[in-house]
Amino acid sequence: MKTFEYERATSVRSALTSLGTPGTKPLAGGTNLVDLLKLGVERPDLLVDINRLDFGGIEPTDDGGLLIGAGVRNSDLAADLLVRTRFPLLAKALLSAASGQLRNMASTGGNLLQRTRCTYFMDTTKPCNKRDPGSGCPAIPGASRELGILGVSNDCIATHPGDMAVALTALGAIIHVDTLDGPTSFEIGEFYRLPGADPTRDTNLPAGALITAVEIPGLPFGAVSTYRKARDRASYAFGLVTVAAALDVEDGIVRDVRIALGGVSHKPWRASIAEESLRGKLVTARSFEAAADAELAAATPTEQNAFKVALAKRMLVGTLHELAGGHE
Ligand SMILES: Cc1cc2nc3c(=O)[nH]c(=O)nc-3n(C[C@H](O)[C@H](O)[C@H](O)COP(=O)(O)OP(=O)(O)OC[C@H]3O[C@@H](n4cnc5c(N)ncnc54)[C@H](O)[C@@H]3O)c2cc1C
Repeated sequence: MKTFEYERATSVRSALTSLGTPGTKPLAGGTNLVDLLKLGVERPDLLVDINRLDFGGIEPTDDGGLLIGAGVRNSDLAADLLVRTRFPLLAKALLSAASGQLRNMASTGGNLLQRTRCTYFMDTTKPCNKRDPGSGCPAIPGASRELGILGVSNDCIATHPGDMAVALTALGAIIHVDTLDGPTSFEIGEFYRLPGADPTRDTNLPAGALITAVEIPGLPFGAVSTYRKARDRASYAFGLVTVAAALDVEDGIVRDVRIALGGVSHKPWRASIAEESLRGKLVTARSFEAAADAELAAATPTEQNAFKVALAKRMLVGTLHELAGGHE
């Protein structure tokens, strides 16, 4: 492992000043970053520990949403009463992730920025366009079972591995960021990137910036929401395909719906085509299936992960059935 310097930030400003020097990375819970240091995937010169900075807690906002400080731990977020009542899909997504010990350490900001679990990315003896630009993507002809089927490119089929961001994508969360030039923010769909010809960047976070908070806008039907995760083990495993959804039904008709898929793309995948296909439709198995088919029509799987197309359809239809409850 490459040696590095360590410093503990005393203010957001001082952290940003240090992060202005290339080769510097913020350290939050360390549950992803430290693993990647050990593997030699991340090779910073300086780690800036941001764990003692006050990014705020979990606050209700005037529109019925929530403002969540970047340092809030995943276990605290999952246990919060406002999260569980207003946005149960978020609590369920968090609780489906990792283990109790990891969730106690993992922070909101660090969770958003966890790196892909593509085995080629994590193995420095292998080529990988994300880690070593221009070296190639052996995953495309190789071990791709866990990898992407939507929005992939000829250079990268890695997936965002997290659960929390999938729920936040369905909720249209805003990522608040601070930089030396002042604060800025991103709608989560604009925060994450597709791989295209430059898979090195997972997000549009400016160099040297810090995530300070995540804002979830109010969603009146957020309480009618859930998160489903298909994975190889019942716990302590990343999702093969996940679904975050919220559904608003009146008189047997879909008034509004939010859907995001995980495990299928370089970014948490907002299923806008399925949403649009469902609005105003009768709550029936046929409309759910048609919505899933419409969303997945653009899928370009490999031979090894073609099963994800059928799995995503079943997961999406099943989740909508569950949320529709007595309305069918
Ligand atoms: C065995 C195992 C199983 C796991 N299973 C799952 C799972 O099923 N689902 C899931 O979603 N996750 C899973 N995880 C991943 C875990 O959720 C992440 O490692 C964790 O959320 C990262 O948060 P952290 O605070 O530890 O981040 P760190 O490891 O400290 O940082 C991660 C990255 O974010 C950057 N960073 C951190 N905070 C900020 C900030 N405020 N602003 C800017 N940059 C920042 C760091 O520089 C680093 O690049 C698993 C991890 C392990 C080890």
